[in-house]
Amino acid sequence: MVIQMRMILLGKPGGGKGTQATLLKEHLDVPQISTGDILREAVKNGTPLGKEAKNYMDAGKLVPDDLIRGLVEERLSQDDIGKGFIFDGFPRTLAQAEGLKKIADKLGISIDKAVYIDVPTDKIVKRLSGRRSCACGAVYHIESKRPKIEGVCDACSGKLYQRDDDKEDVIKQRIEQYEAQTMPLIDYYRKEGKLVTIDGDQDIDEVFNDIKRGLGI
Ligand code: AMP
Repeated sequence: MVIQMRMILLGKPGGGKGTQATLLKEHLDVPQISTGDILREAVKNGTPLGKEAKNYMDAGKLVPDDLIRGLVEERLSQDDIGKGFIFDGFPRTLAQAEGLKKIADKLGISIDKAVYIDVPTDKIVKRLSGRRSCACGAVYHIESKRPKIEGVCDACSGKLYQRDDDKEDVIKQRIEQYEAQTMPLIDYYRKEGKLVTIDGDQDIDEVFNDIKRGLGI
């Protein structure tokens, strides 16, 4: 049976969206679209988008909506999204949610579900400050998800690093941005009848099982 699923993942930074998106991508065989990963790649490659986005990202601020909208429109015009997609870290503002609706209308598709992974704020700082990332998109944690060899990615043997915005002074700013700009999206998708709320304060496997159950997949 081919399941078609166009979904978004909502939740605080460090709440497990990327980890769950990676598991869902395997399970559903659809692409994971992380605006954060796309932006980090653009910064690394020094593209015009990367140059514009870098200062916002370094400060833990959101990149302006028009840049994000262009990036998403371009990504959704690629031909690998026939079976669906998983957005991770997008939309992050009401304007982006409205923008997504317009892009989807243009493409003749709609978003099926918004999964909200709910994690208490006091857990977030610990999760983010212990997070170690790989350029391939894999993420680890110095306590709860250690790689087999310290500092080395299990998936691609790349060198793990701490994202600049995972340092404590920037984390606070990112949480404030989330509360001011992204939290209203929970009500937005609830009103659309698309919201599935998941307790994110559990082990990775338990969260994944709850998501599958919540989506009926
Ligand atoms: P993330 O990897 O999703 O935590 O994103 C890292 C940073 O990239 C964020 O703190 C923002 O500066 C920027 N970013 C990623 N996605 C978005 C988005 N949808 N809207 C605005 N800024 C974004």
